[in-house]
Amino acid sequence: MAIPDFKQEAQALFDDMIALRRDFHMYPELGFRETRTSGIVADTLADLGIEVQRGIGQTGVVGILEGAKPGPVVMMRFDMDALPIQEENDLPYASKNEGVMHACGHDGHTTMGLTIARIMSKYQEKIAGTLKFVFQPAEEGLGGAFAMIADGVLENPRPDVAFAMHVWTSTPYGKVRVRSGPVMASSSVFSLTVQGRGGHGAAPQQAKDPILAAAHIVSALQSIVSRNTDPQESVVVSIGQFTAGTTFNVIPDRAILKGTVRSYNEELHRQTYRRILEMAIHMSTAFSCEARMETMAIVSAVNNSEEPTAVVYDAAAQVMGEENILNERTMASEDMGYILEEIPGCYFFVGGRNEELGYTFPHHHPKFNFDERALVDGVAIMSHAAAKYVMNNNEG
Ligand SMILES: [Zn+2]
Ligand SMILES: [Zn+2]
Repeated sequence: MAIPDFKQEAQALFDDMIALRRDFHMYPELGFRETRTSGIVADTLADLGIEVQRGIGQTGVVGILEGAKPGPVVMMRFDMDALPIQEENDLPYASKNEGVMHACGHDGHTTMGLTIARIMSKYQEKIAGTLKFVFQPAEEGLGGAFAMIADGVLENPRPDVAFAMHVWTSTPYGKVRVRSGPVMASSSVFSLTVQGRGGHGAAPQQAKDPILAAAHIVSALQSIVSRNTDPQESVVVSIGQFTAGTTFNVIPDRAILKGTVRSYNEELHRQTYRRILEMAIHMSTAFSCEARMETMAIVSAVNNSEEPTAVVYDAAAQVMGEENILNERTMASEDMGYILEEIPGCYFFVGGRNEELGYTFPHHHPKFNFDERALVDGVAIMSHAAAKYVMNNNEG
């Protein structure tokens, strides 16, 4: 059959989407604690007649919509978790959970997933294939995708293709970012301990000052991107935490630096770590201290495959017009990278910025919000892309 007009269908459900998204927004839940959210997700899917699997990756939910005929398995993944941030928006639907906020837009993602499931379930008779709706917990640095993979989300049935998206406030409403290759960076966290020898602040010659050594390390690390990296490549080295000392007149025993590395390229990522470690060791030695480094939580780059990206591109052109497709990417990262290492797919960004309405704050900001009309765009594009695989079989 011809692909339905999903933009119109999504538009017709806009009021329902707003209500659902604002409800999720009012009751945000942190990673692996999304019990209310995943309960609503599971019940809604079940009401639509979709087979539901609960407790996949702790609080994750999977919905399987089996078409009338066999065909490709299309996975669509939506994250559900919020962040440990106190909301500063003065909104009737502001967070009611103290210190927890949907400051990344995952309330919108969960809403879009349920809306796509609602739309597609009407076409069950016309579908040749299987739609796998994956509602993931704990995307924000807690390894939710990994937990779901460990619980078998990529098997029974194994997806042939996987899609995911993010509402994005760096991109204006009405625009969408679609491109193949890496679109989000690989990310890792490191912790550097600079060990010195504490002492009296008035007798520094008897101590080995780890604060001085660590301060030089922070400065020196800034040269890795500018002096050791090919200018054509993208790397980020950021220190976000510097912890040392307890009071003004005591030289502490140690200083701890925590930071992150982002890149699109594994070899470059390793090379960056080699330089961080070399600098930390030699700089510490220069100041009579010692350095030790640990790396943690390496998330893969989000790598889009050619063919599914072309399908999303066509879907976006159909829904938004080709002139509204941007060829941009970001150094942020996402655990969808783990899934796209196993399954070819496409991750894309739906513009949610609106200057007039003041939706200009970055993701993870206490005043974050986005233009809810982006929900219509996201639902329409992803539905259209999925339909290309499971509803288009007669058109060659
Ligand atoms: Zn986020
Ligand atoms: Zn996010």
